[in-house]
Amino acid sequence: MVSLSLRFCSLLALVPLAAVGSVIPRADTYDYIVVGGGSAGSIIASRLSENSSVSILVIEGGPSHEGEVDLTIPYVYPRTFRSRFDWNYTTVPQPNLGNRPGIYLRGHVLGGSSSINGMTLNRAPASDWDKIASYTGDSSFRWEAILPYIKKNEGFNRPPNTPEYANTYDPAVHGFNADKIGNTLVTDGNWISQPALQAATEVGINYVRDVNGGLPVGISWQQFSTKDGSRSSAATAYLNAGILSSRSNLKVLLNTFVTRLLPVSRTDLRFTTVEYKDASGNIVTVSARREVIISAGVMSTPIILMRSGLGPRAHLQANNITTILDIPAVGQNLQDRCGAAAVWRVNATDTDDDIDRDPAVFNRWLNQWNQDHTGRLTQMSYRQMIFGRVPNNASIFTGGFQDPSSGPTCPHYELYPANKWTSPTTPQPATGNFVSMNIFVSASNVRGTVTLDPTNPLTGNPVIDPKYLSSEWDRYVMRDAVRTSVRYFNAPAWKKWNATPVFDTAILNSDAALDAWISSSAFGGVHGVGTARMGPANSPAGQDVVAPNFKVKGVSGLRIADTSVFPFVINGHTMGATYAIAEKVSDLIKSGN
Ligand SMILES: Cc1cc2nc3c(=O)[nH]c(=O)nc-3n(C[C@H](O)[C@H](O)[C@H](O)COP(=O)(O)OP(=O)(O)OC[C@H]3O[C@@H](n4cnc5c(N)ncnc54)[C@H](O)[C@@H]3O)c2cc1C
Repeated sequence: MVSLSLRFCSLLALVPLAAVGSVIPRADTYDYIVVGGGSAGSIIASRLSENSSVSILVIEGGPSHEGEVDLTIPYVYPRTFRSRFDWNYTTVPQPNLGNRPGIYLRGHVLGGSSSINGMTLNRAPASDWDKIASYTGDSSFRWEAILPYIKKNEGFNRPPNTPEYANTYDPAVHGFNADKIGNTLVTDGNWISQPALQAATEVGINYVRDVNGGLPVGISWQQFSTKDGSRSSAATAYLNAGILSSRSNLKVLLNTFVTRLLPVSRTDLRFTTVEYKDASGNIVTVSARREVIISAGVMSTPIILMRSGLGPRAHLQANNITTILDIPAVGQNLQDRCGAAAVWRVNATDTDDDIDRDPAVFNRWLNQWNQDHTGRLTQMSYRQMIFGRVPNNASIFTGGFQDPSSGPTCPHYELYPANKWTSPTTPQPATGNFVSMNIFVSASNVRGTVTLDPTNPLTGNPVIDPKYLSSEWDRYVMRDAVRTSVRYFNAPAWKKWNATPVFDTAILNSDAALDAWISSSAFGGVHGVGTARMGPANSPAGQDVVAPNFKVKGVSGLRIADTSVFPFVINGHTMGATYAIAEKVSDLIKSGN
């Protein structure tokens, strides 16, 4: 257990706003205040504090990550779901997911979602970055311009120098900064890699040398944000105890809930004062001399803006919040990537199923991890990933339908085979060995919303409606991805392992039957973006929330830097792309732009 820095001022849990007394302004001020010490916020605070002449305060809603085993051992990361490290959000019932509400996981801890996530390290295809550059009119978002930030953030761990791993990554696209985010391939020689790769060849899926080289369509080796057998997060790399104790200009308030931001006055829209709750339930304000950076994530950032009077006027009025600036785009444009898992029984014995169902097996691996941080718990159950596209001649494209993806090298869906049962909607059987295909829609054209809780706008959870699978395109992509998965597990490479579906493949015979299976099997995503989206510097007021320099349009002293600013769905997992923009905005601020 690493002891907490004395400068961690841990505040108590939330107190209902009704109990709040007077507003207490703090005497101390900081040059910069970062709201949310998550994936982006940890990096920004750490980078800004490299300059010892400026002071930084991070206000984080959750506790410290230090010494927490569930945040450290990679395999056990699902234990953090619905724990004190999760904000415990729920979506509204989703009509295309059998009217089920979904859980919406978000990290409630230093490091944010990077402290609880699945650690798959992607950075989005090059064409996604080029599309952002084109949409915003800012070429500094182009892939070539973003790559240096990605490398700066990364400590790539080379796989063993053996023929098996000779062609599994491209060193030219990686950074090798040992003190930054670890990036590791799973290289344990598990049986599943051979059929997983061979089956791809057999069904015509091309091999991609490096998933993070900008052209991910095909099958490649997964890369994970781990280092020396443990999770590597924004907190472990950028706000660890060593950094915090050595930088007197950097202070972190933990377990501290930011309620809103305040302008200097109704006519002076400098938003440099942050309001939060202290241990006694008092409302406290603290001010920044230069800027406030909101990095509270895709769900909380728009909510904090709305509570501050920055949002769609009608929605604010309905919640008795005075509109300071009407910004219709706040809380709109939520895009995410929902998924489903299909499962096959296999005759292999070396799957991870027993780790999940047999405490004796789990404890054996735990003992090994405790001894030297090696073994099965250093990784997840995935080794390869497939990014795929709906064929160009697919019926959906007739009649002038425009492909919403960022171009012909951008994935429409993602598949990753697992060497165990992964379906969250049907319980794992008590015996047997399984492989699963995790299937995600990627280039979604659905846009959902995040709004205030009308029963408790000031401290309630966000009302989240991702509108999963509500477009014909998203449903088409999901169907195509399921059919591709079945073709893949029918390939000769899996015959030796007698891969047998545990679901009725007759569902493939009609779209209606397939839709019904998807509706009962699908689950919500964790890669939400867009709720405070970035747009061109000169776009009409309210259409977008931030300019390409991450500054909130129409006010001053305020930037947003987290997943909420991405204007389009990221066609890969979002952590890596978030790290890239955090490094970029840090440079912008440091250089006075
Ligand atoms: C369970 C899970 C699995 C995932 N798996 C992967 C994966 O394998 N690979 C991948 O690339 N991506 C994955 N993601 C997505 C990825 O982790 C996130 O998109 C990304 O980390 C979000 O970064 P962020 O900075 O926008 O927000 P976060 O990292 O969530 O940071 C927001 C921070 O703000 C704090 N905060 C929020 N509201 C307040 C408030 N009012 N007051 C004070 N503090 C506040 C939060 O506690 C948090 O620390 C996963 C996410 C989850 C939750």
